[in-house]
Amino acid sequence: MGMDQTETQRRGLILINTGPGKGKTTAALGTALRAAGNGMRVLVLQFLKGSWHYGELDSIARLAPDMEIRQLGRGFVKVGGAEADPEDLALVADAWRVSAEAIASGEYDLIVLDEINYAISYGMLDPEVVAKVLQDRPEMLHVILTGRSAHPTLVALADTVTEMREVKHAYQKGILAQKGIEF
Ligand code: ATP
Ligand code: MG
Repeated sequence: MGMDQTETQRRGLILINTGPGKGKTTAALGTALRAAGNGMRVLVLQFLKGSWHYGELDSIARLAPDMEIRQLGRGFVKVGGAEADPEDLALVADAWRVSAEAIASGEYDLIVLDEINYAISYGMLDPEVVAKVLQDRPEMLHVILTGRSAHPTLVALADTVTEMREVKHAYQKGILAQKGIEF
């Protein structure tokens, strides 16, 4: 907030937005907007996105090259209970490879790994592997992980963890997803 921060005071944080309430992804995008406004280079990587077209794809495209968004593994959504489809596993592995490369690249100040927690909680991605890459990241890099059921290993590693609590949601009244609010 306008304070002069010396290099020694600056440090990269790990943040997690989790919990059952609405606002995990949108809070991460809000932080991304804040960072981009500060001249920081921001990359948003979306895991497990379905076939919907999200408004943020177009608004972030207008902020290029300061801010960049990529949908990884578009179309795969794991349904609870069933065994992981080998094709989905390959998509998650590929999404993680892209993420790990971006983290190590030193090209970004903030990286958002949107919905990565789902891939981990579905057993499609090893939390210990993710933790190792986060621990070895460039010192000043901030990383935000979103999605329900954040893994305890990553919660322990993170600096700031927020759990969204659902008080109520329009969906419970039978109101379908609204443009600009849900997508
Ligand atoms: P948002 O992207 O709106 O910040 P989110 O990231 O917290 O939501 P996700 O678990 O990623 O939530 O689910 C994405 C979609 O599900 C969004 O359309 C969102 O509005 C909707 N959603 C989120 N929480 C709930 C809920 N508690 N009940 C019903 N729908 C929900
Ligand atoms: Mg989300």
